[in-house]
Amino acid sequence: MSEGVSSLPWAAAPAAGNAIGLYAKWTPALDAKIEAAQQHLRNACAAHRDGLVQSSSLGVEDMVITDLISRAGLNVHIATLDTGKLHAETLALLPRIKDRYGLAVEVFKPVAEAVIQFVRKEGEEAMYKSIELRKACCGVRKMEPLSRMLAGRTAWITGLRREQSGARGDVAFDEDDGNGRRKISPLADWTWAEVWAYVQKYEVPYNPLHDQFMPSIGCAPCTRAIAVGEDFRAGRWWWEDSTKECGLHAKS
Ligand code: SF4
Repeated sequence: MSEGVSSLPWAAAPAAGNAIGLYAKWTPALDAKIEAAQQHLRNACAAHRDGLVQSSSLGVEDMVITDLISRAGLNVHIATLDTGKLHAETLALLPRIKDRYGLAVEVFKPVAEAVIQFVRKEGEEAMYKSIELRKACCGVRKMEPLSRMLAGRTAWITGLRREQSGARGDVAFDEDDGNGRRKISPLADWTWAEVWAYVQKYEVPYNPLHDQFMPSIGCAPCTRAIAVGEDFRAGRWWWEDSTKECGLHAKS
């Protein structure tokens, strides 16, 4: 790890708490939002059938969507990206999804030879050296596998919410992804409190790292806890002054 990065505040993260206890708050609007989210999912299923995939990061929003899909009895293929840099806690959700919902999540991994070549040339910690190398790492480990996940699909379901960041402030429930597919974000108007109220009510399995002040969880080297008052995505690529996006949801 570079000197600048090692001095950043992993150790300064606040003591772990319980995310449900900290955040969950049922709101008067939530029943209607749940119904609307399920209707968006039903509409997507009807419009796209086998062309539809839930691209799950295994973050709490995506776990809520998997629960909504299951609860509505919808036949939606679920897939995730295993970059080779995920926390063990994230990967541990895969068998929990199988146990809870009877759903197998298809896992897309980067091309091993491409990763080996990249690491050999740029090093294991290339992401800290420059934004270009960080994006190149995301390209090899995320974007290429994502392109295989979406090949032949006409629509994908994401856990994007408008509240997550300024860059996501105009996320629509159903929009063009810039590559000819529809991107369905059924939780676009949900608040963080509502996400956790749903988790509490329906006992949705979630990544215990959310209990450690990590609202947005990506690869282990590129995720840290956030401090009180920081943006939801401040813990992603925290050493960068960037939009905190890896390219998966870039607008072309
Ligand atoms: Fe690489 Fe970090 Fe991007 Fe993961 S988030 S692919 S480790 S740069």
